Amino acid sequence: MQTQHTAFPCDMLVAAGILVTQDDDRRILSDAALVVTDGRIAAIGPADALAKAYAPRETLDLSGCLVLPGLVNTHGHAAMTLFRGLCDDAPLSVWLSEHIWPAEARLDAAAVSLGTRLACAEMLATGTTCFCDAYLYVDAIADAVEEAGMRAVISQGVFEIENAGFKTVDAALNAAGALTDRLAGHDRLRPAIFPHAVYTCSAKTLTRCADFARSQNVLLSTHAAETARENEDCLQANGARVIPYLNELGLLGQNTLLAHGVALDAADIGILAATGTSVAHCPKSNMKLGSGIAPVAALREAGVTVALGTDGAASNNTLNLISEMQTAALLQKVAACDPTLLAAEAALDMATRDGAAAIGWPELGRLTVGGPADLCALDMSRPQLTPAFDPVSDAVYAANGGEVACTMVAGKVLYRNGAFPGFDYPALVAAFKETAARLTRPGA
Ligand SMILES: [Zn+2]
Repeated sequence: MQTQHTAFPCDMLVAAGILVTQDDDRRILSDAALVVTDGRIAAIGPADALAKAYAPRETLDLSGCLVLPGLVNTHGHAAMTLFRGLCDDAPLSVWLSEHIWPAEARLDAAAVSLGTRLACAEMLATGTTCFCDAYLYVDAIADAVEEAGMRAVISQGVFEIENAGFKTVDAALNAAGALTDRLAGHDRLRPAIFPHAVYTCSAKTLTRCADFARSQNVLLSTHAAETARENEDCLQANGARVIPYLNELGLLGQNTLLAHGVALDAADIGILAATGTSVAHCPKSNMKLGSGIAPVAALREAGVTVALGTDGAASNNTLNLISEMQTAALLQKVAACDPTLLAAEAALDMATRDGAAAIGWPELGRLTVGGPADLCALDMSRPQLTPAFDPVSDAVYAANGGEVACTMVAGKVLYRNGAFPGFDYPALVAAFKETAARLTRPGA
């Protein structure tokens, strides 16, 4: 007979008003709590029962919040926050060659570090806990993300145009190898490789990147089929559209994530489904650059994993995945004049569990016992989240990102009510502004 209960020690007890787990049963719990120990979830259940059963060192009251798994941003170039608003309303080719590439030529490791840290702040403030980044100076990126406390898949960019980060493809691949060694066994950071696109990498370079990804067992991501023009140019240069060309070169497969996937025909979609290749849908970037509308509903119907990405802040211009969920859902509906396409739950899946699957980190994007304690919490006292009939609908269609009251990664609160406990935010912004001005207005 048991007469006395001993409460189990734990690091933190988190009270959650509504908990959207995104587990395999898509359980949504009211008046719930999470028990966190060593950065992982030790228990999920009714708040009153867990409060009796555990003796936490710390408590976190999110009882007025809608708690979601931390969002997963699967495509972006974090340091491009430095170029936000540098050039808007221009075609992709002009935007890249006349504005972005010249500014990027002046980058250095210190600038990339500042740009990445500001991006981390912006993502944390809008509920993102993990992102897949592709850029230059990956060591500086790894340092910045490590310090920010977030999770990231950090991809070494590879391309054959003059740039500030490396002189040759060999040097880029060596940097990718060094990053892979450095991050071996890291709990929050993973290495990856990112050949930029079929129009900036030769067939040989693309193949070398695929060989690297296979031999190191890391994610390969690349921009693919972003525009119809890209397919036309690829057909002319290589005798095939982008997707069959990448397939022929051995770049497609379960460890591959294609950013954009806008200009896809039925045969392309069939290839992606057959090879198990995932797509990072970046609706706002595609809309802003006038690239088109990715066939997300058709891809999902074919069994392709479709995740969400913001792309860089120079083509979006925010890193707000909540806004991206809403845009993705609305865009599919208007494209086909069919309101049943891409329902709220599908959009939330894309920003959470499907994003995690797409980057090969499937324990993320859901709140389950034993899984990482990565979450975000939306303040339900805001008018737009009232009366809270359906929390998934509210998160996708009503929230704008400004409701995020708390973001936690690996059991650590990294954002809480407008403040960043791990950052000196005003100092970061001052240094960031100075650097952004130096890069974009040389001689000014
Ligand atoms: Zn991109």
